[in-house]
Amino acid sequence: MKRTPKPSQPLTIATRAIHGTKLYAYKGPVATPIYQTSTYRFETSEDAIRYAKGDPSVYVYTRYHNPTVHDVEEKLALMEGGESAALFSSGMAAVTTAILAVTKPGDEIISTGALYGGTYRWFRDELPNNNITVNYVHSNRLNEIEKLASPRTSIVYFETPTNPTLDLVDIAELVKRVRNAERVVGKKILVMIDNTFASILNQDPFSYGVDVIVESATKYLGGHSDIIAGAVIGSEAFVKRVRGLAKHHGGCADPFAAYLLSRSLKTFELRVERQNSNALALAKALERHKKVKRVLYPGLPSFPKHQLARKQMLGFGGMITIEVKPSKGRSPVEAAARVCDNLKIAVNAMSLGGVETLVSIPVYSSHIFLSDAELKQHGVTPGMIRISVGVEGIADLIADFEQALSLA
Ligand SMILES: *Cc1c(COP(=O)(O)O)cnc(C)c1O
Repeated sequence: MKRTPKPSQPLTIATRAIHGTKLYAYKGPVATPIYQTSTYRFETSEDAIRYAKGDPSVYVYTRYHNPTVHDVEEKLALMEGGESAALFSSGMAAVTTAILAVTKPGDEIISTGALYGGTYRWFRDELPNNNITVNYVHSNRLNEIEKLASPRTSIVYFETPTNPTLDLVDIAELVKRVRNAERVVGKKILVMIDNTFASILNQDPFSYGVDVIVESATKYLGGHSDIIAGAVIGSEAFVKRVRGLAKHHGGCADPFAAYLLSRSLKTFELRVERQNSNALALAKALERHKKVKRVLYPGLPSFPKHQLARKQMLGFGGMITIEVKPSKGRSPVEAAARVCDNLKIAVNAMSLGGVETLVSIPVYSSHIFLSDAELKQHGVTPGMIRISVGVEGIADLIADFEQALSLA
């Protein structure tokens, strides 16, 4: 039997996403088998002892570990450039478990203000019950991190680009501020990013010194709107702590969802590259449309933080937000709803990152429970439509938006 020769240069994300750690394997199935089992037969009773002593080759129970799940975890760690990865039943399970693994009562978290709704509400409604406080800084005032940091600060948490205005946080600046703060307070502070919106193909947080990536694999990694999953990627020691907590909290990934994710990752680069190019073309077309007041897309020269996008993003992503210009006598939100209801290809649905283009109205969905003051603070207006651009033919997408917008 012949082994595949080792490649002489570092591998691209596409290759890692397809082959995982099996690149040099010369036997066994090409596709990952689905270990749809809750438990595992011990060869002898000694196996239980070997597991208890930490032998990773002994499988015991799927809430602890599963070979299909493990296969995806290895791929994700390789793709994202982390030492280790843990897969979860959802993005929220990944976020909450990663944070609880390294916080204790009395701790403080510093976070940028524009967050995924589920994360924001968990910070606001649940963490205070554990006596964990979250203090917010604006993306344009990252210097406040140094003022807010204290010996109780355990995590600095952020997202970029943010939902739905696609505002950017300067990652290099944020990490620099945290490292300065560490010297003042005399302790290590973990920098944690939710990288869901950009995905690893468009933004490489570890190259900026970020410590932990959390991500909803439901979105770009899964990419087909058919699974719910989440991931935590970081150092071996950190992921080990997360796994320890995950055993108790129980947000383990399902083997079949893990299989679908592993399959999706094989086309991750193809999909995201196409989503990037479709989004740029669509954003340019929308910018020319007379029923569009404003297009927010990091790849457009008109985008407020376009220079930062060029500096820190490897691709501009598949998310666009537009503000509709209503016809006379119609309110902005009515106009936005008319556009969404008249699209024939793009689907009016929550979520993002799939092969199909999805649209949603932030004031009707992700931001429905926010007060007018909060909406203003987040820059969200009633006429906004968030577009998650899919991989359809770009001419079809542009035509679809043009006809629906004409009815705004
Ligand atoms: C969807 C999403 C989440 C939550 O992920 P689920 O898989 O739905 O639990 C977290 N962060 C961001 C930015 C998201 O878009």
